[in-house]
Amino acid sequence: MFELPEFITLTRQINDTLTGKIILRGALGNKPHKFVWYNQTPAEFERLTMEKTVGWAWAKGKWLFIPLEPGYVLVFGECGGKILYHLPGDKTPDTYHLYLSFEDGSAMSATTQMWGAMELYERGWEQERQYIQGMRPTPTEPEFTFDYFDTLIDTLLAGEKRSLKSLLTQDQLIPGLGNAIAQDILFRARLHPRHPLADMDGAQRRELYDSILRTVAEVIEKGGRYDEVDLYNQPGGYVRLMDKQALDRPCPVCGGAIVKMQYLGGSCYVCPNCQH
Ligand SMILES: [Zn+2]
Repeated sequence: MFELPEFITLTRQINDTLTGKIILRGALGNKPHKFVWYNQTPAEFERLTMEKTVGWAWAKGKWLFIPLEPGYVLVFGECGGKILYHLPGDKTPDTYHLYLSFEDGSAMSATTQMWGAMELYERGWEQERQYIQGMRPTPTEPEFTFDYFDTLIDTLLAGEKRSLKSLLTQDQLIPGLGNAIAQDILFRARLHPRHPLADMDGAQRRELYDSILRTVAEVIEKGGRYDEVDLYNQPGGYVRLMDKQALDRPCPVCGGAIVKMQYLGGSCYVCPNCQH
């Protein structure tokens, strides 16, 4: 699944490569998929995207916004898979969930693996969509200060009991983070995924906050994670510290064995010596 750094990488590449291109034809999936959320019929999508120009894209959390000017915005959300650029003359992929061909012969395709939103809105209405409306600050925005983070935790303590993995991956509490980056954030902060949110001292809050910013910045700088591909079908340059590969090597800090556990809807990779 794409997380904030992968969406930011895609945004940068879309703005380098697609902005200014004029759409010849827009098509929705030629492959039925129960978990792709569309808000237009294929015919409406084709009609509304015809002759539109790609504007400047942006990302927020796990949502990517591509203006189709005048007047519309294409939204990709909560998805994984591939969003790819195709040079003029490249073969059209056999299957896709969304396809835009451009007047210069190039194209863009999107194919999701598990689920995801691929929706087209009249510009402005996308902000009313569930999960976009009222989204909290994300770690790449200036509003995401330590004071904000500290207050967020205090506020959450009044609600249901949560662990640190829950803070990092559930309910868009920190939009854009997901199960992949959360592993490395927690490892670098020396905190365990099950560590109760209520049981963090001031120093641990600071460690976790710093680790979020540092990890997100590093993954962005390296063009996304190595287990996702970018607009040009190239893997990202960020090699994850804690994923299934970590089981075969010693902990980079203490040399101990990494363990795998299932927790909150996904695998966690943890060093029991280092993370508490
Ligand atoms: Zn260790």
